[in-house]
Amino acid sequence: MTHAAPVEKVMTKNWANPGQNTLEGYQRSGGYTALKTALEWAPAKVIDEVKKSNLRGRGGAGFPTGLKWSFVPKDNPKPKYLAINADESEPGTAKDRFILENDPHMLLEGIAIACWALGAHTCYIYARGEFKYPSAVLDKAIAEAYAAGIFGKKLLGKDFELNVYQVRGAGAYICGEETALLESLEGKKGWPRLKPPFPAVVGLFGCPTVVNNVETIASLPPIINQGAEWFAKLGTEKSGGTRLVTLSGCVNRPGTYEVGMHTSLRDLIYADEFGQGLPAGRMVKAVIPGGSSAPVLNAAELDTKLEFEAFKPMQSMAGSGGVIVMDDTCCMVRCLWRVARFYAEESCGQCTPCREGQPWMARLLRKIEEGLGDMDDLKTLMNVAASIAPWPPIGLGNTICALGDAGALPVQSFVTKFKDDFVKHIENKGCPHGDKPWGHFGDFV
Ligand code: SF4
Repeated sequence: MTHAAPVEKVMTKNWANPGQNTLEGYQRSGGYTALKTALEWAPAKVIDEVKKSNLRGRGGAGFPTGLKWSFVPKDNPKPKYLAINADESEPGTAKDRFILENDPHMLLEGIAIACWALGAHTCYIYARGEFKYPSAVLDKAIAEAYAAGIFGKKLLGKDFELNVYQVRGAGAYICGEETALLESLEGKKGWPRLKPPFPAVVGLFGCPTVVNNVETIASLPPIINQGAEWFAKLGTEKSGGTRLVTLSGCVNRPGTYEVGMHTSLRDLIYADEFGQGLPAGRMVKAVIPGGSSAPVLNAAELDTKLEFEAFKPMQSMAGSGGVIVMDDTCCMVRCLWRVARFYAEESCGQCTPCREGQPWMARLLRKIEEGLGDMDDLKTLMNVAASIAPWPPIGLGNTICALGDAGALPVQSFVTKFKDDFVKHIENKGCPHGDKPWGHFGDFV
């Protein structure tokens, strides 16, 4: 039996309550009391409280939420917008959908608090196209909030109009990138924009816009109810609160769990409350810690804590909280090839290094996996990746958006940390794990 340190539940605390995803159930658990409190405060006080809570964006970048809000210019006469990123598509990540399914009013109350703080009268929730059930639950919750007089002309009776709309995407991964999301909301092709200007200054319809992730905004009601200090203390020095992570791959009990920022990857994988270890006789070989774009870690790095700062020394990131475990029977070349095909497929094609480089890397990986590669291919693979984003990562790739980095950094980390696997494929002229070539199935990568 292995146990992790106990975690005070914040996001999932009420999920098991009957009817929690209805307005009545949410109010039974104290729902909308935080909004009442926030509406008695000046907007600046709400922003200060969020800053003090050390809440960081849960969508991938981990940017401090209060700081992001403070970039919205106060003297701009244009309308301000809040856009919620519910386009959860990063491979290995499944957490926002469970907030929508289990506690949609927690998000809606967070939206109302954020809009009050920002002076935004309109919020768009951009939901992933494939979210049929979560979107249906959310639509019902929005309708309940309007019928109860929470949204509409007067926000909970206050002289402040707030309208909230859900918009479904069409299944493009790139629309999870905040500026592509805004383009798509405007009815255009989801192509990322060059930054600056940042959305906080020039966003939706050319107006100041804050784009926040579902889990980030759903964290606001408990922050207002229990205080920024309480929330900050739950986490580490720079990352307040708890987080939702999705554990998948070679573990006994995959799932979506609420963990503390102090919880280590080892605890997540082995503790009885979470992954319950690997099947008998298997050992961890590699872990992707934050969705498939996060650089891979090896077994010696399992004591890393699941907070935003902790992954920096390993040149990786906490990302979207999608933890993918690979055991000692996994072929690193084949796993990376699978990741590379995804980013090749999802590149929007605007910039040359990403458009040409992602499929090129996937083709090289296929060649190596099928025993047809040589050491020059490995060199070329690393050169192509470096032309998209430098290694070690410095946070700035050579492309318009981070999808370029998302495809290049896994390549560089896999080859750097598991070079032997790649060399063995080349020397043995085939996969040492016995994986069979896929044959000529006409796939472009
Ligand atoms: Fe499109 Fe890739 Fe350029 Fe992003 S990096 S804008 S996905 S081509």
